[in-house]
Amino acid sequence: MTEREHVRVAVIGSGFGGLGAAVRLRREGVTDFVVLERADSVGGTWRDNSYPGCACDVPSHLYSFSFAPNADWPRTFSGQEHIRAYLENVADVFRLRPHIRFNSEVKMMTWDAERLRWDIETTGGSYSADLVVSATGPLSDPKIPDIPGLDSFPGKVFHSARWDHDYDLRGKRVAMVGTGASAIQIVPAIQPDVRRLTLFQRTPPWVMPRVDRPISGAERALHRALPFTTKARRGLLWGIRELQTQAFTKRPNELVLVEQLAKRNMAHSIKDPALRAKLTPDYRIGCKRILLSRTYYPALAQPNVDVVASGLSEVRGSTVVAADGTEAEVDAIVFGTGFHVTDMPIAQRVVGAEGRTLAEAWQGGMQALRGSSAAGFPNWVSVIGPNTGLGTSSMIFIIESQLNYLADYIRQLDVLGGRVALDARPSAVSAWNRRVQERMKRTVWNTGGCTSWYMDASGLNTTIWPGTTAEFRKATRRVDLTEYEVVRVSADKKAETATETVTESEVASA
Ligand SMILES: Cc1cc2nc3c(=O)[nH]c(=O)nc-3n(C[C@H](O)[C@H](O)[C@H](O)COP(=O)(O)OP(=O)(O)OC[C@H]3O[C@@H](n4cnc5c(N)ncnc54)[C@H](O)[C@@H]3O)c2cc1C
Repeated sequence: MTEREHVRVAVIGSGFGGLGAAVRLRREGVTDFVVLERADSVGGTWRDNSYPGCACDVPSHLYSFSFAPNADWPRTFSGQEHIRAYLENVADVFRLRPHIRFNSEVKMMTWDAERLRWDIETTGGSYSADLVVSATGPLSDPKIPDIPGLDSFPGKVFHSARWDHDYDLRGKRVAMVGTGASAIQIVPAIQPDVRRLTLFQRTPPWVMPRVDRPISGAERALHRALPFTTKARRGLLWGIRELQTQAFTKRPNELVLVEQLAKRNMAHSIKDPALRAKLTPDYRIGCKRILLSRTYYPALAQPNVDVVASGLSEVRGSTVVAADGTEAEVDAIVFGTGFHVTDMPIAQRVVGAEGRTLAEAWQGGMQALRGSSAAGFPNWVSVIGPNTGLGTSSMIFIIESQLNYLADYIRQLDVLGGRVALDARPSAVSAWNRRVQERMKRTVWNTGGCTSWYMDASGLNTTIWPGTTAEFRKATRRVDLTEYEVVRVSADKKAETATETVTESEVASA
């Protein structure tokens, strides 16, 4: 039997969330931790998505850690290779590498209620940890739809997040399935090289121009010489997005004006009225993520591109068939069909205090107190948990808010002392979730008339945060102990756990 290594904290994942958590742990004086990563390098999203044209759609100076500003972002919206290099650099600068265990996919983790710790089985060894930080990413497990006949397709098939760089698309007939954030970056990047591109579009996205430009040498020199200018730039980018949020969360009708701009953007490149009709969405802008590109529509107007306004429904040999009956013979199929977001595989691998998996606990919809803690899963803190996603701003701001919460969680455990765990009260989780869902009712994501990946199979929006990022920051500033049960191993009966209730007055006097 292999020996189990015990650590105080096990972080799962080494994307922005996991690396950010590792930096924060060190800053809090916690050095006894590991970062368990299934791949062989850091970067998460930015390691796995290497498709042509991959870039962030939130400006780089905002889409980066506040504690690791980068004066040298090459473009306003930097490409995947630069973001990946940035995260590799974060791992080096903050000396995180000794903590990282690569090729260690978490297969199962089980709460040991007697010893108040998580037992974790990975492909790289066994661990136990007092606390687990789950940073496995909302968009890390690619989803390929179940298409009849796909198995016997004789050509090449891959997902946008697992790009096969050994396969040369030049001169090939390619089917691109999906028109989401990845697809609209891929289409203009491959269109000039492929013989024919057939785009399967179930729902057209709203597309606004992306104001992307190189960041000049002078700007970079200024940022290097006067670091506060980087901060000011970030603050401005953040503030603009905060101001826009109200329209998405409270007054979706105001977004009609933005729709006009998006239509004008389309009309500028798409002269054919029939194609324009196909590409015009019939739902309120913002309901699905607003996509940013200056090159998508011009690419669709090229003679080697066919837009099929219907989903892929069948594959017959090398022929792809749309739901509306359109057929095309292709050499390769590229799926830009998103990820397992509301059914993330990790939830089946986490077994909590009552012997239930997180997936079972979340059968009626994912929910977590302040996006972080699930009832019955003590000392388990999630980064980018349920209802923390954004339609308007940078996820790094959300991640850093959750890291504040994590830091306070650890401080509270220290203050309580001894062998102790915090388990979110079901009543607190429900109350939080009720508030979130109540606010969600007015938002464009729920009222805009679209179907999106923000919703789970039962139509519940369990992914988006329905407020400003400042509100989320405030809600995650501190752990409110009255929202938790404090679980201890009783001194005389080692095998039993005793729970104590912390009252509000005790918290206030602590
Ligand atoms: C193409 C693309 C573009 C995006 N652009 C933006 C953008 O512009 N702005 C924005 O705000 N957001 C963007 N996002 C969202 C993005 O996912 C988040 O911003 C952020 O990168 C998430 O970081 P993370 O660490 O939580 O997850 P990830 O980056 O997905 O990292 C999760 C890590 O966990 C590992 N892991 C998963 N399961 C296990 C397991 N069982 N055991 C061990 N390791 C495991 C994975 O291998 C991965 O390394 C984009 C997403 C994609 C896919």
